[in-house]
Amino acid sequence: MTQTPGHHLNEEALLGYASGALGEAESVLVATHLALCPACRGRTSTYEAMGGSMLSQIEPSNLSDGALSATMARLDQTDPSEAPCDDGGFDNATVTVLPRPLRDYVGGSLDSLPWKSRGRGVKELPIRIGDGSVRASLLRIGPGETIPQHTHEGVESTLVLKGAFSDETGTYARGDVAVATADHDHAPVADSTEECICFAVIEGPLRFTGPIGRVLNLFVRP
Ligand SMILES: [Zn+2]
Repeated sequence: MTQTPGHHLNEEALLGYASGALGEAESVLVATHLALCPACRGRTSTYEAMGGSMLSQIEPSNLSDGALSATMARLDQTDPSEAPCDDGGFDNATVTVLPRPLRDYVGGSLDSLPWKSRGRGVKELPIRIGDGSVRASLLRIGPGETIPQHTHEGVESTLVLKGAFSDETGTYARGDVAVATADHDHAPVADSTEECICFAVIEGPLRFTGPIGRVLNLFVRP
């Protein structure tokens, strides 16, 4: 049985996605959530339809050729959940964990990728999306392990792809999105029953604050 996510993206993110206003990394995060969330997919379709009907009321001469074709291409995009299932050389475990919009950027099966150790039981795989100005990565957290306590200078959006984690704001399972802001010091703990794999997009560098974090900062700081 497929579980429906309980923690969703906000209206701002869905509207931004529907209107094409988000950066590429944020768009991939939204598209990946939409692949797992019928509720947000429905809301996004509504926004896209609203955008399309507004567009049809604008005199074509007021739109540049590029803006019109970009918007029409966007409206033509297929629903990610209905995209043909093509495993493209990925192993079954990877196809099960990574929805299509994200798989295309990861580029290989999970166990074959160059994960970097980020302390006990935590691995990170940086993913280059767009111009690289936004930090995007997959995190792989062993059962019951903790991501070192950290705060950030920007907003961190974390989408769970496998397993679950909990922090003081709640429990997040596959498809759920957790959003942490700069004033929010948190230490997510993976469920003890299985590893947790997440996709995280961070607008601004992380600042680890715990004793392990001070060491990690040496690695993650450019
Ligand atoms: Zn949702």
